[in-house]
Amino acid sequence: MASHGESKWVYSFGAGKTEGRADMKNLLGGKGANLAEMANLGLPVPPGFTITTEVCTYFYANGRTYPVELKDQVAAALAEIEQAMGAVFGDANNPLLVSVRSGARASMPGMMDTVLNLGLNDVTVAGLATRSGDARFAYDSYRRFIQMYGNVVLDVDHHHFEEILDSVKRDRGYSLDTDLTAADWQAVIADYKAMVERELGRPFPQDPQEQLWGAVGAVFGSWMNARAITYRKLHDIPAEWGTAVNVQSMVFGNMGNDCATGVAFTRNPSTGENAFYGEYLVNAQGEDVVAGIRTPQHLTIAGREANKSDLPSMEEVMPEVFNQLNEVRLRLEKHYRDMQDIEFTVQQNKLYMLQTRTGKRTAQAALRIAVDMATEALVTKAEAVSRIDPASLDQLLHPTLDPKAERKVIAKGLPASPGAASGKVVFSADDAETQAALGDAVILCRIETSPEDIHGMHAAKGILTTRGGMTSHAAVVARGMGRACVAGAGELRIDYKTKVMSVRGVQVKEGDLVTIDGSTGEVMLGAVPTVQPELSGDFATLMGWADELRRMKVRANAETALDAATARKFGAEGIGLCRTEHMFFDPARILAVREMILAETEEGRRKALAKLEPFQKQDFVELFTIMAGLPVTIRLLDPPLHEFLPNTEKEMAEVAAAAGTDPLRVHQRSVQLHEANPMLGHRGCRLGITYPEIYEMQARAIFSAAADVAKSGTPVTPEVMIPIVATRKELDILKAVIDRVAAEVKAASGQEFEYSVGTMIELPRAALRAGEIAETAEFFSFGTNDLTQTTLGISRDDAGSFLPDYERAGIIEHDPFATLDQDGVGELVRIGAERGRAARPGIKLGICGEHGGDPASIQFCESVGLDYVSCSPYRVPIARLAAAQAALKTDTVKRD
Ligand code: PEP
Ligand code: MG
Repeated sequence: MASHGESKWVYSFGAGKTEGRADMKNLLGGKGANLAEMANLGLPVPPGFTITTEVCTYFYANGRTYPVELKDQVAAALAEIEQAMGAVFGDANNPLLVSVRSGARASMPGMMDTVLNLGLNDVTVAGLATRSGDARFAYDSYRRFIQMYGNVVLDVDHHHFEEILDSVKRDRGYSLDTDLTAADWQAVIADYKAMVERELGRPFPQDPQEQLWGAVGAVFGSWMNARAITYRKLHDIPAEWGTAVNVQSMVFGNMGNDCATGVAFTRNPSTGENAFYGEYLVNAQGEDVVAGIRTPQHLTIAGREANKSDLPSMEEVMPEVFNQLNEVRLRLEKHYRDMQDIEFTVQQNKLYMLQTRTGKRTAQAALRIAVDMATEALVTKAEAVSRIDPASLDQLLHPTLDPKAERKVIAKGLPASPGAASGKVVFSADDAETQAALGDAVILCRIETSPEDIHGMHAAKGILTTRGGMTSHAAVVARGMGRACVAGAGELRIDYKTKVMSVRGVQVKEGDLVTIDGSTGEVMLGAVPTVQPELSGDFATLMGWADELRRMKVRANAETALDAATARKFGAEGIGLCRTEHMFFDPARILAVREMILAETEEGRRKALAKLEPFQKQDFVELFTIMAGLPVTIRLLDPPLHEFLPNTEKEMAEVAAAAGTDPLRVHQRSVQLHEANPMLGHRGCRLGITYPEIYEMQARAIFSAAADVAKSGTPVTPEVMIPIVATRKELDILKAVIDRVAAEVKAASGQEFEYSVGTMIELPRAALRAGEIAETAEFFSFGTNDLTQTTLGISRDDAGSFLPDYERAGIIEHDPFATLDQDGVGELVRIGAERGRAARPGIKLGICGEHGGDPASIQFCESVGLDYVSCSPYRVPIARLAAAQAALKTDTVKRD
């Protein structure tokens, strides 16, 4: 806001004075703030101005109208550009031309549309022709303007323009746009204008002011288009942020062979290598590079060689300007201390910078860039750690193609986004979404993608296109989303009508399995086997830094030896939840489990339990051995017995035979044990209260395993955990059973071992009464799956049927079973932690619900001061990184 009581809606840049800064992104949008910042750095930025995001907010809050002061502020800013450029907007002899671009706070690739050459009309085009001395260039510019403005602002479908251009080319026997002469373009323009008038019932606007305001309105209007709304939804961008509008004087990359335009990354966005990386075109304008009409050329000699291109690089064609650009590259990286994605234009050998922003990159590149920049002392280790999105590690933890596997490569495209993916072929974004919702892995195959396809790209495991380069829409978006992508596999022919993709006699139909390798660009038939990734190099370095910075420990939820070994490989510091019931489903044991459940007497149950005990003991011996002294939290039997009941006649007969009773009795007992609402039924510690012998057997298995392992010299620290506790009394009774068994095992084995007994906090009552529960419990583990279920009164099993409606209606932002409901469930966790600590200072506190692997929830756990989080083995690295970031944000960084 300006200080003179009048609101400031417009900020100038580059025309002598620059009013914005990089830290004004909320007001100026990313593009506007960075243009201002580049101008402040003294880089060559064509002068312009930014209409703020507050105007967008005003626009939507006031029935799509503008603040009264806006017109005058825009006029004043435009006058400054005119002065700086020595040209006048709308002048017949010396016209100023501008571009109009959107620019939200967060970059929204492909969402908003650009209009170039605005200010051209039937009169000014002649002025441009005279002043540039190039009539062909002037009329080409005018027809581009009509095309872009017609499409973006006036909403005339682009195929109308393409048809006209195609027919002119056909009539004259041309194959390239560059074959058209000034007179040809004039003919095209006449046809374009006639077509627009026919389509809209009014002529193409000739008044530059009308053109300007039309474009500004279109940018604000596009903030609410369907593509923008989808993108915002996928990326959690609130609609209230709004977009800014950037109006900038035109510079031309298409005025001759000493002109060029290009896009570049200051480091390689796929691998992260510290090498200038980009594409350019001589004598071309902005959109030509990404439009895929001409094949873009490499910026550097190294890039050209690496890609075996025979088209000369910019480094060779215009070495001086290239060197200047390379200096800008280094300057920008130093200033922003991050990899930048830049756009530039060269007009008559003079370099202009049109954009800089933090570049999107693959997870692999992000790691390498973060580690390299910390090593180069450009950023601190803490900054390097903060820069990696924990969820993106998922891409690195996922398998790549088994190098030994047989591959039937049918085509090769560009390695646009790394990772391997197999799935069924689909040819449209809608089909991708439908098939994925049915649980199929799909590969979305398109000639090229556009912003309309985003939902399908998100649903697909991989994306394959037959057209477009490394900066094509498919490539950029797939990298951002972490989807494998092979782009521009030009040998493949896709026929949308017959839903067939073919290459050299091979036909791939919809539903056929293919594999793509986004790291090599290969397209293969069938599903090719994969291998686990290596967790060394940059990954290990960064995780090491994260470990130095975090306060909370990270454990894993694991019950099998394989899970435990995986968890350790990923850096787990213990087991936070071993769900013993998972061990019961093993085919070798289920019969004895059923026998135990269906027994009608304690004696019958004990007989069956005796069969199970050696199995359980062996499980624990393995876990303790693998975890070698790290804490292992073992939860006693939790699920409703209902889940183990035999279902078929055959299963009932088997149980009856094993127990020595008749199948009818088994059937009757089964009916008796059936529960209408098992999630809130006879489960958790309630089983231990009714059948103490079950917990007794489990405790004996745990302690005798501990004694054995300890005897062999491996340290053990079992933590016995009781589920679904609501009252202290429950815990008192069961802890007494466990302590008694521990004493018996110690006496019988003559082996000492440490152990502790604690409880899960997964019922609201337990959280509220945590004070008294902590008098008995030696540790708490927040079971936020059940705590969410019981706090919200939403069944874990059935929530999926209506939670999406709740998300759509804006009642909830995220699935509360995936991301902790911090206000509600979180408050109970906070209360439980506080009351538990007050009663037993230093009580160990952890979390073992699914939220233990969710970065946002991990941040919450840090703020409550939990000692550890526990999550599935594959999420352990994500949790390690998220815990470090949480410590940095909460300023509880470990400094020892
Ligand atoms: C929980 O309730 O959060 C939990 C970890 O236990 P389970 O998911 O096994 O009920
Ligand atoms: Mg639970």
